Amino acid sequence: MVVMLLGAVSTKVNANEQNQTKEKGKRVIVICAHPDDAELTTGGTTILLTRLGYKIKYVSLTNGNKGHHQGTKNEIAFRRYKETREAANRLNCEYEVLNNEDGELEASLKNRMEVIRLIREWKADIVITHPSYDYHPDHRNASLLVQDAAFLVTVPKILPEVPALEENPLFLYTRGRYTNRQKPSPDIVVDITPVVREKADAIDAHESQIYEWLPWINRSKEVIPETREGRLEHVLNVYVLKRGEIKAEDLPVVEKWYGSSAQAVNTIEAFEICEFGRKVTDQDILELLQLFPEQK
Ligand SMILES: [Zn+2]
Repeated sequence: MVVMLLGAVSTKVNANEQNQTKEKGKRVIVICAHPDDAELTTGGTTILLTRLGYKIKYVSLTNGNKGHHQGTKNEIAFRRYKETREAANRLNCEYEVLNNEDGELEASLKNRMEVIRLIREWKADIVITHPSYDYHPDHRNASLLVQDAAFLVTVPKILPEVPALEENPLFLYTRGRYTNRQKPSPDIVVDITPVVREKADAIDAHESQIYEWLPWINRSKEVIPETREGRLEHVLNVYVLKRGEIKAEDLPVVEKWYGSSAQAVNTIEAFEICEFGRKVTDQDILELLQLFPEQK
């Protein structure tokens, strides 16, 4: 049952629609390991971009079927699948969940081809994934799979049944929760201050994670509020404001992208450029991510 339903998750966009939207707005694909990773790292940026007409697709490379302490694997996968549908509705984005086992994602040739297919079929201008340095092996392998696709999406003889992209997308890593000592500062920060409550609302769709599994696995003593208002406030504080705090090493980057508006930036999502994709100048980034005040 679950397998069939998950197989049906794939939302195919027909070629006509792709050609039409290609002209109007940029296309972004966020490829992560688990249902909820994309919302937690990129939810604010997603809300801002969809308001500008960007088309955004989230992909979870695993079905998340180990992400709970109660129930069978199929029950967990199905519940989390339903949560992705809710999150997609709240974010106005596409969401595809692949039926790979949680905790067992490998950077295999088969999975690499799947990632190349996903990026090509979406005709992505921007691809976002986990940083290389992160705590979960699925996150690291998802990052490696996307890195492995970053050049090959333009090579026609690779996966010839899906046309290669003419222009390599911009590839970005989200900010992990661990400091990359080789590169402590991000390349790009996005001010999500205006949409922190909307981001909290999207994360709240993953109730099995936010209110049950994560407190359990983290042995958290925090009390989860009963009311919807209380829960949204909890998500806002714990998962949006705290994780989106501006660190000392972020300050020059906030000032670079927001100039005289930098003082008004309170909450951010941060990104690092993956050098294996499109080589970009600051001007290219301004054109690709039309989020920054005109100041340059
Ligand atoms: Zn994850």
